[in-house]
Amino acid sequence: MVPEGSPVELDLRLEAVMEGVLVTGSATAGLVGECVRCLEPIKDEMSARFQELFVYDDHDHDPDEDDETSQLEKDLLDLEPVLRDAVVLALPFQPLCQEDCPGLCVECGARLADDPDHGHDAAIDPRWAGLTKLVQDED
Ligand SMILES: [Zn+2]
Ligand SMILES: [Zn+2]
Repeated sequence: MVPEGSPVELDLRLEAVMEGVLVTGSATAGLVGECVRCLEPIKDEMSARFQELFVYDDHDHDPDEDDETSQLEKDLLDLEPVLRDAVVLALPFQPLCQEDCPGLCVECGARLADDPDHGHDAAIDPRWAGLTKLVQDED
């Protein structure tokens, strides 16, 4: 998710066309989330590109027409819904701390990325036993 009040950097280009104004741009925003596999907090940056045609407000507008069309309201561009859509589309569906995150050990909950050779040939190390309990309690 994009944290509330986080700065969004905008880079906009406006072009006057026959029907209205064509807005092309990109938005860059900071992201926070957690890895879906190991629950490690993620801080990332995302950028979304978008293009939207804002048509001039037309009083003969047919209400049956496509409601998705963005309209210029008194020469103002309402970019917010466009931005929101672009950002939502650009958000990773299942964020990962790293592309091949191995996740958590099913037995003890250790983060395997921190400990790739992790295994349980022997009984669980007593140092981890408390953690196991903690992870189970959270379930
Ligand atoms: Zn991860
Ligand atoms: Zn383990």
